Amino acid sequence: MRTLIRHADFFDGKNKRLHEQAGIVIEDNLIREIISGDISLENFDNIYDAQGYTVIPGLVDAHVHLSWHSTDLDRMRLDEVAVRAAKVAEIMLLKGFTTVRDAGGVTYGVKKCIDNGIIPGPRVFPSNGYISQTSGHGDGRGSRAQSVDMSPRIRSGACVIADGAAEMLKAAREQLFLGASQIKLMAGGGFSSRYDPIRTLQFTLEEMRAAVDAAADFGTYVMAHIYTPAAMRRAAQAGVRSFEHATFMDEETARVIQAQGIWVCPCPQFDGEAPKGGPEPPRALKPPNPFDDEYIAMSRNPVQATELINRFDLPIVFGTDVGFSLEFIAAGQLRDFRAYKKRFGSHNGLVSATGGAHELLKLSTSQNPYPQGKIGVLETGSFADLLFVRGNPAEDLAILAEPDNIALIMKDGAVYKNAVPAPGEGGALS
Ligand SMILES: [Zn+2]
Repeated sequence: MRTLIRHADFFDGKNKRLHEQAGIVIEDNLIREIISGDISLENFDNIYDAQGYTVIPGLVDAHVHLSWHSTDLDRMRLDEVAVRAAKVAEIMLLKGFTTVRDAGGVTYGVKKCIDNGIIPGPRVFPSNGYISQTSGHGDGRGSRAQSVDMSPRIRSGACVIADGAAEMLKAAREQLFLGASQIKLMAGGGFSSRYDPIRTLQFTLEEMRAAVDAAADFGTYVMAHIYTPAAMRRAAQAGVRSFEHATFMDEETARVIQAQGIWVCPCPQFDGEAPKGGPEPPRALKPPNPFDDEYIAMSRNPVQATELINRFDLPIVFGTDVGFSLEFIAAGQLRDFRAYKKRFGSHNGLVSATGGAHELLKLSTSQNPYPQGKIGVLETGSFADLLFVRGNPAEDLAILAEPDNIALIMKDGAVYKNAVPAPGEGGALS
C-alpha cells in the first residue's frame, strides 16, 4: 500500500520553521521518503492533499492511565475496567494521540488488543502496575479498615506493593516480564491518595536503586511520581530518569535535573481545575492537612516550577495524567495544550508532545515495543502517524486544544478521522 500526502507544510517534531509544500511518501505503515517539489501522482493507492493545513507528527501523551480509574476500581468488576480502558484508548486516538506512555495500571491486555487491531487506540508504552511502598501514594486501600489483600487495586495488579530492595527487584522484574517499557514508582506523597501527606518521602535510596538496576539490566529506566525537592534529590541520586509532576521544584533541584538530564513531565492537570463534566480535582479526596496547604496553593499556581524549567531549559514532555474517568478524558486531554502554551510557549510545548517525546521514548531501548519506526518526528523511517491541523500549532499551541482543529488523524498509515472536505471542495483527492 502506497500513500502520498501532497502539498504538506509540515512540522518535523523539532524545528520551529515548517518544511513547505513537501510530498510525504508512505509505504504501509512507514514514511519512506519526503520529497520537495513536484511529484508524480501515479503509483499511489491513496492521495491526501494537505493544502491549507499544517501536518504534524501524531501527538504523544507521556503520562496517561488507560486502565486505572482511581477509586473507581473499588466499585468495578475487572471486565468493566477492561471495556472502559478500550473506550479510553479509542477516545485518545480520536483526539490525535497516536502514542501514549502509560504511567501505571493493568494495560497488558489492552495494549495487545490495540497492537493486534482488535480495538482502535494509540501505541502504548506500558509501565504495567505502578510500584508503591506500603502506605505510599500507590497503596490503594480504600480505608484503614482494609488489609492489603482486600484492596481491588492491589489484587488486580494495577498497584504492586514492595518494601525492601529484594521485594522491589521482584516487583520491577514482574512488570518487565509483562512487557513494561519502563518502570513506574510512586516516590513521594500525592494528592489523590488518602494516607500519605504530600511531603512524605517514599522508598529508601536502596529501594529505588534496586528498581533502577532491574530496569537498567533490561535496557530501560524508571519514571517516578514525585512532587517535593527532597524526594526529587533522592530519586536523582538513585538514577531515576523521568520525574512526573515535579511541581515543587526549587533551584537546587533544577540544577540537579539539568546536570543529570532528567526528563520532567509537568502534568498541569488542567491548571488545577477539573473540566466540566469531570470529577472533583483529585486533591479533594485528601483530608485536611495543614502541612499540605502550602503545597496545595503552589500546585494551583506552579509559577516557580515553570520559571525554573524555562530558565534552566529542562527537558520536558507533554503529559496529562488523564484516566480518572471517560468524561474527564473526553473533556480534558487536549485542553492541557493551553496550559503548556501559557507555561512553556507554543513551540516548546509542541516539541514536548512530539520530538521531545521521541527522545524520551528512546530511553526504553530494547524494551521499546515499537522498534520498527520512529515516533514523534516526521522524517524518513518514521511511523506514518500524523495529523492535519487547521493553523500552525508551533505558533499557537492553543489551536490543539480544540478537537475540531484536527482535520485528519493517521496512525500506522491508516486514517481514523477525516474531516477534510472532499475533492472539488478543496480537499483530499481520495
Ligand atoms: Zn499518574
